[in-house]
This record gives sequence, C-alpha cells and structure tokens, in this order.
Amino acid sequence: MTPEARHWLDLIQGLALPHSVRVMNVCGGHERAISLAGLRTVLPPEIALIPGPGCPVCICPEEDIYRAMRLALDEHVLLVAFGDMLRVPVNLPRTEPRSLDAARAAGADVLPIASPMDALVLARQHPEREVVFFAAGFETTMAPVAAMVAQGLPDNLSLLLSGRLTWPAVAMLLESENPCFDALIAPGHVATIMGPEEWQFVPHRHALPAAVAGFTPESLLAAIYSTLRQTLEKRSFLDNCYGEVAQPGGNTTAQRILKDVFDVVDANWRGIGVIPCSGFNLRETHVAHDARHRFPDQPNASRRRMGQMPAGCACAQVVMGKISPNQCPLYGRGCTPKNPVGPCMVSDEGACRIWWASGVRDREATPV
Ligand code: SF4
Repeated sequence: MTPEARHWLDLIQGLALPHSVRVMNVCGGHERAISLAGLRTVLPPEIALIPGPGCPVCICPEEDIYRAMRLALDEHVLLVAFGDMLRVPVNLPRTEPRSLDAARAAGADVLPIASPMDALVLARQHPEREVVFFAAGFETTMAPVAAMVAQGLPDNLSLLLSGRLTWPAVAMLLESENPCFDALIAPGHVATIMGPEEWQFVPHRHALPAAVAGFTPESLLAAIYSTLRQTLEKRSFLDNCYGEVAQPGGNTTAQRILKDVFDVVDANWRGIGVIPCSGFNLRETHVAHDARHRFPDQPNASRRRMGQMPAGCACAQVVMGKISPNQCPLYGRGCTPKNPVGPCMVSDEGACRIWWASGVRDREATPV
C-alpha cells in the first residue's frame, strides 16, 4: 500500500461510524480497482462498497445482441463489436447459436475490435462488404464513436448503436422505492467528458453525499472518505477527488460532437427496463449509417424470454446493487467466466466476473 493510500485508510478507520454506510460505484473500472486492491478487506465492516450499473455490456438489451447476430447470419454483413460482447448469451434454444461467438462458429463473419477506428479501417479495407459496427458503451465510448461519425463514414459502414448515459440510471435508482445506497462514487472518466457538475443532482435533489473518483486506490479511498465524512457531518455535496483530470465543465468539444451526432432518447436496459433519456440514437442527418434503418428488423416471435436475462440469472439485481454478485445462486456453480450464464460474468466490467477474478469464491462471505 502506498503512503497516500495508507493516509486515506487511516482517516477512514479513524471515523466513528455509528451505523453502516452503503457506498455505490457505477463504473466497471472503479469496481475492478476496488476488488483488485482488496479495499473491501481493509475497510471497517460498517462500510459496504456496492457495485452498481457500471457495465455497458451487462445492460445492453438482449434483443440488440440478437439483432446483431441475425445481421451477421442472415444479411451476411461483416459484424464488428468490442470483444466482450461476443460471448454475451441471448435467450435461444441450445440448438441455435446463442451468442455472436457462436454465430461466428456457425459461419457468420463476426470480428472483435479494440477501438471504433478498427471498424473504419475494416470498412475501408472491404469496400465490397457491408460492415456493421455494433457499438455498445457509455459516454466515454460514445464520444469517440460520435467523432468518427462526424468525420464522415464510408458508404458501406453502418452502426447498430446501443449507447447509454450513466447518470439517468443513478437517477432512476434514487427515485425508486429502495435505492440500496447511501452515498455515490461518481465515475471519473464520464465526469472528464461530461463535467463533474452532471452529478450535482445526487446531493442537490436527493441529499446524498457524492464524490468523483479516479481509478487508483488512492483516489477511490479519498472519495470514500469524503462521502463518509459528509455522512457523519449530515451534509451532502459533490466532491471532486479526480480534479487533476475531471475539470469543471468537462470536455466541451466532445460534448458538442455528441450533441451534433446523437439524440438522447428513452432506452431499454437489459433486465431493468426503459430508463428515460438514457440512450444515444443517431440523429436524422446520419440515418443512412443507422443499421436499424438499413436492415429492417425481422422479429422472431418464437423466441422465448425475449429481452430478458437468462433463466436463473440475477444480473439485473446485481447491476442495481440489490444483491452482491456472490449472492446469486448460480455464482461459481452454474456460472463461471469459462461458462458464463449472464452478461455480468462475461464482461471485464461485469461485477460477477470482477469478483470472481479477484478471488471471491465463498457465496456467503461478502454480504452487501
Ligand atoms: Fe448472472 Fe452469473 Fe452473475 Fe448470477 S453469477 S448474476 S447468473 S452473471
């Protein structure tokens, strides 16, 4: 542990917390840093660190993945997507391909890419092919996608967009009957683009402590300490513990490009439902590059559990912070990274996979 991390930990351990405090993060990067650094094991037992809706792959609508598979299988497009997405299961009988990876094994052209620019390069290399970029992600992913669209796409490249904004999911949780958390660690990379001010609604409208954090144990501990002090002092404000990167106002150029390219629309979150103003849609001016327009949907009415989580999977409760990953009955039994049942065990940003990778094996040992 670094001297700075020790400093913040000493301050936290010196607080006299009269009751438990549940601190939620909404970022897979935060959850990974917390888990890999073992912060839960060194913090006082009154503090529960809860992973929330921080994984865009986990909440990507099942029907979007199914649509991507059908485009690759039926329309014979070259389908590209970020690697995590390829293994996410959809609800189909075992006799059919149940993921993009399985579609590839069945003969479809499906390629993993590491950045939006890879899609552009592939489209230029294969002008004779229709290339569809299945683009799922939060603001940090959608900003470079928007920049790519703004610069002009080749005629043969279209987007199957599944982009989401993070703050509306937190607002939805806070407006629900049982929000499951008492303080928020806001995502530093989103704040860097959209501005830390976007999270002011947490203390202002809901009187909950909030702090923006970066991705080191030091920054996370500083943010946790801030929210705990706010709790003890019975006040709430937005602290910025990532001020060296997340500047007031954010990245105004990225915000302008996001606005120019996308409309903000109501959007479906897998297992959760439609959240108002939480999705990105290509604006009318870019509709020629919208795969949903270029390839009209062919719904398969015979699909069972359409749009839902796989049977028995508790990913939706995990994503909303209602249970911890190891409270899912399938955790480590029917569901492991090698044989994932739900998206949270597939993605590097999924809480189940992160907890498994950081060594959590006991289903009872880490209650939220
Ligand atoms: Fe879903 Fe598997 Fe996590 Fe359970 S352990 S919530 S089945 S991903």
